[in-house]
Formats: sequence, C-alpha cells, structure tokens
Amino acid sequence: MSAAASPPRPKDTRQREVIARLLRQAPGPLGVPELHRRALGELPNLGVATVYRTLKLMQEQGAAHIVTLDGDNLYEASGRGHHHHFACRSCTRVFTLDTCPLPLPAGTVYPGGFVVEAHEVTLYGLCPACAARS
Ligand SMILES: [Zn+2]
Ligand SMILES: [Zn+2]
Repeated sequence: MSAAASPPRPKDTRQREVIARLLRQAPGPLGVPELHRRALGELPNLGVATVYRTLKLMQEQGAAHIVTLDGDNLYEASGRGHHHHFACRSCTRVFTLDTCPLPLPAGTVYPGGFVVEAHEVTLYGLCPACAARS
C-alpha cells in the first residue's frame, strides 16, 4: 500500500466547492474564522484545518490570495480585476469596491518625477448598514 496519490474523497471535493463558492460570493475578503462560520451552515462537521488546507490549495491554483489589512490575514477570491477595499470601523467587515477613487492610472508621473505603476488604497468609514443605523 502506497500512501501517495490517493484520489480525493467525495467529502473533500464537496468541502472545497462550498468554501470556494462562499469566498467568491462574499462581499469582500474574509478571515478564516468568518469563512469557517459561514461554511458551517452547509458543512456542520467542517474543521477549521480543512478551511486552511482549502485556502492553501486555492492560493497554489491562483484562485485566491491573501489581503493583509490592519495586521489581519484575510482571503479573497482572485480574478476580480482592479478593485479596492472598504473597512467598516463599526462592524469591522471588509467590502470589495469595484470603483477606483484614485485618478492615477499606470504611467502617471507623480509630482517630483515618480512614475506610477500601481497603487493600493483602503477606505475606512461606515458601511451602508452601519451608516443607516447612526
Ligand atoms: Zn458596518
Ligand atoms: Zn485604484
């Protein structure tokens, strides 16, 4: 008996599908505890180690990447194109914004002669739900 190259069990495949779908459908990048909590609704026996394993696999496949925000590692499905994040200071959720607040396309020469190639911007404030309550 070789331990190598055992085919994936159907249970593993289903877990991966659910985790990948929840990540793609999330309104923004998710931390592992939050992703695990959401997945428990469909996979009551899911262990957090499986969430980590699945995220590692998705990163290796280019299907997900890490967003580091305020020292926390959050995970986001890849392939959303140019976008930014909005962190709500009230409920602490993070949202993906598809609009760009910065008129600085690649190739812009910033004052002083700095040639811009890319930018990262995180907006902070109140999400629509929290703004409606305040
Ligand atoms: Zn909020
Ligand atoms: Zn932008």
